[in-house]
Amino acid sequence: TPYSDYIKSVIRTVRDWPQPGVNFRDITPLMQQKAAFRKLIDSFVHRYQEVQIDAIAAIDARGFIVGAPLAYELGASFVPVRKKGKLPFKTLSETYKLEYGEATVELHADAFNPGNRILVIDDLIATGGTMLAAANLIKRLGGEVVECAAIIDLPELGGSAAIEHAGFSVFSVCEFS
Ligand code: 5GP
Repeated sequence: TPYSDYIKSVIRTVRDWPQPGVNFRDITPLMQQKAAFRKLIDSFVHRYQEVQIDAIAAIDARGFIVGAPLAYELGASFVPVRKKGKLPFKTLSETYKLEYGEATVELHADAFNPGNRILVIDDLIATGGTMLAAANLIKRLGGEVVECAAIIDLPELGGSAAIEHAGFSVFSVCEFS
């Protein structure tokens, strides 16, 4: 997008967090700078405004920050994909592997109607496990995944390639190597 470089420039890299060797890409400066936050949301709005989208499925928790304003702007509904044990009603869940151990994401069984067109969104794609689990949940519930969108992709970790290999389209505003 025309604002990719600008948006990337306001993402902070925190070295050795949450553990040694990890460069954490911190989006809080991007949220704090009002012009940058607007440009970020506008970038997604611009990409999807001519696309039929029934619901934004946003991933707990940083996906909510972009998913909610995007749903509002597009006139779509908002559906939370949450970490295990947070959703009160009947859920579908998907467990995926982490570097150490595993994680589970959940979706309410009545989150949308079969055949609905769903955009999945999160802040960042690393190994792609979280995004892929969310996209698989959407499919299991009969939704059509329009695209998997993120602010940041880390292409060297192969996550976005794996998501595409599973048959989903991927979009990110910027990339870090
Ligand atoms: P993955 O499942 O693709 O390996 O990891 C992506 C998930 O972990 C996303 O939900 C994202 O919020 C979180 N995550 C992992 N690394 C980072 C990072 O460096 N910065 C941010 N903001 N989130 C991260």
